[in-house]
Amino acid sequence: RDTLVSVARSALRARKRQYAARDVLAAREQDVRARDQFLAMLGHELRNPLGAITMALEVIDRRGGAEERQLAIVRRQAHQLARIVDDLLDVARVTSGKIALHRVPIELGTVAARCVEALQPQAHERGVALALDEPAGAVALLADPVRLEQVIANLAGNALKYTPAGGHVTVTIGSDGGEAVLRVRDDGIGIPRDQLSRVFETFAQVDTSLDRARGGLGLGLTVSRSIVAMHGGTIEAASEGPGRGSEFVVRLPVENGDGPATAALAPAG
Ligand code: ADP
Repeated sequence: RDTLVSVARSALRARKRQYAARDVLAAREQDVRARDQFLAMLGHELRNPLGAITMALEVIDRRGGAEERQLAIVRRQAHQLARIVDDLLDVARVTSGKIALHRVPIELGTVAARCVEALQPQAHERGVALALDEPAGAVALLADPVRLEQVIANLAGNALKYTPAGGHVTVTIGSDGGEAVLRVRDDGIGIPRDQLSRVFETFAQVDTSLDRARGGLGLGLTVSRSIVAMHGGTIEAASEGPGRGSEFVVRLPVENGDGPATAALAPAG
């Protein structure tokens, strides 16, 4: 009888090990798939601006000189390449915990206003109305204005990118208890419920042909979430579902005056 029990037990242990091995294998396969998909996307994202630059240079060569039009193309595409490289470096630094915050007293409304103003030309080009909804009083906190601007630009930029012409994007600043609250709301393509938590994962893109056509590497929200976490805050995504818009809510603690002026980041989960 004892032998039977021990045989059963060891069979159970072997089965458990098998399941665990299978889980590890499945997770590894998923990682490999995600990585391959990311590399393919990165290839496309780099090739597009490089192709445009090469073509502009060919025209310049043929004409024996550059016109403003070709220079503008080269300038814009080089800028796009620099942005991709910055994103890649940022993700690397964030995940390895090598970003330092430089916190100073800021007014959230002022930082948001700067961001919204910078995005107005893009909003205009896309035919989307971009508005800032500011509270009556100031929302003051200790934060790194450059990094915070990066978060707001990412959220509002996404909202513009995923909202068709004729739509609306609203950035709202407020406070709630001991927290400063920033909301970025759009009435665009929305996010399927089961993908809501995934959008913050590295390389994640909600897999619709629409998204792929819009480009991007799926890095922005990963970086944004890490920056918000470094400030001791949280970021959440909400959507009523496809076609019904999205909302991203950032909450930042206001009383962090005792905290260190610079903080190293723990690796993002
Ligand atoms: P990307 O460069 O692909 O925009 P992000 O990390 O900024 O990378 O966003 C990840 C994914 O989340 C996007 O590819 C998109 O599928 C989804 N997403 C982000 N913001 C929105 C939004 N406002 N509306 C709909 N989908 C969004």
